[in-house]
Amino acid sequence: LIRLASPESIAKAAGLIRQGELVAFPTETVYGLGGDATNDRAVARIFAAKGRPSFNPLIVHLADREAALALGRADSRTHEIAARFWPGPVSLVMTRAAACSVSLLASAGLDTIALRVPANPVAQALLRQAGRPIAAPSANRSGELSPTRADHVASSLGDGVALILDGGPCAIGLESTVLDLSGAQPILLRPGGVSRESLEAVLGPIAVPEWSDHPERPRSPGQLRSHYAPRLPVRMAAENVGADEALLGFGRDLPAGAAAALNLSRKGDLLEAAANLFAMLRELDRPGLRAIAVVPIPERGLGVAINDRLRRAAAPRGN
Ligand code: AMP
Ligand code: MG
Repeated sequence: LIRLASPESIAKAAGLIRQGELVAFPTETVYGLGGDATNDRAVARIFAAKGRPSFNPLIVHLADREAALALGRADSRTHEIAARFWPGPVSLVMTRAAACSVSLLASAGLDTIALRVPANPVAQALLRQAGRPIAAPSANRSGELSPTRADHVASSLGDGVALILDGGPCAIGLESTVLDLSGAQPILLRPGGVSRESLEAVLGPIAVPEWSDHPERPRSPGQLRSHYAPRLPVRMAAENVGADEALLGFGRDLPAGAAAALNLSRKGDLLEAAANLFAMLRELDRPGLRAIAVVPIPERGLGVAINDRLRRAAAPRGN
């Protein structure tokens, strides 16, 4: 499972990524659990391997600045920060570009995307050879510490990953700083490898929300950036559907009569359902309808994260 990083093992890893498999690889921050960011199923596999109980957006890695900045709407501040700190341990949140090829699941359905160009030479070589953006959260099961050595990854993820590239211990050993440049006011979403002071030297004052250090803490409902919800109300565990409702199905024998219907997975495959979730919610979120009715989805495996997202979308909203 673990292979020392070499031209051969990196070529093998790049091939696996292109086939939609997952590969763990070293960065200067921590080891990442990487999958093809443009492949919905590969991204769904990342959530499955980590056992995350909810979908949160992933950082998408690229080999160079130009390729990264093309995926988001980069303004002059973003170009400046990128020129100064990439490659390096800072991830930048931007509005997704109109032609962004990255899976909506990697953005957890949001209009924004977190991008980073890592400096680690093994990560660089892998990204170049894979020839596509790689979505990669830390390569550990949900709730465990971020791995800074290949054997940490093996003991946490086991065979949830096709290959682990061993590039030795991570130089920084601390996550990347996450800086949100999608709005007028820069926001430090997570402290990390690049200090707030060095970013402020370029940008001026950066806002630091009190939850930035505690990603596990629920964010206040006013913070729209925290999760995607359709405009239409969501009705869960639907056994029937109205003529003025959209239907989001799963499996066979769906209720008939909806104004519009899509199926997350006809064969009842939760990985396929996760891969389709955000794109289908968006497609069904049509003006003029009363609600999106969602049939019951099993509360196991990726179904836990799917139901978590739907429940948040179904919760009453403050505005
Ligand atoms: P991880 O991939 O586990 O290192 O965590 C990624 C971090 O980046 C989390 O704190 C996410 O909430 C944050 N993040 C990634 N993408 C976005 C985004 N589009 N908007 C806001 N935060 C993001
Ligand atoms: Mg992590």
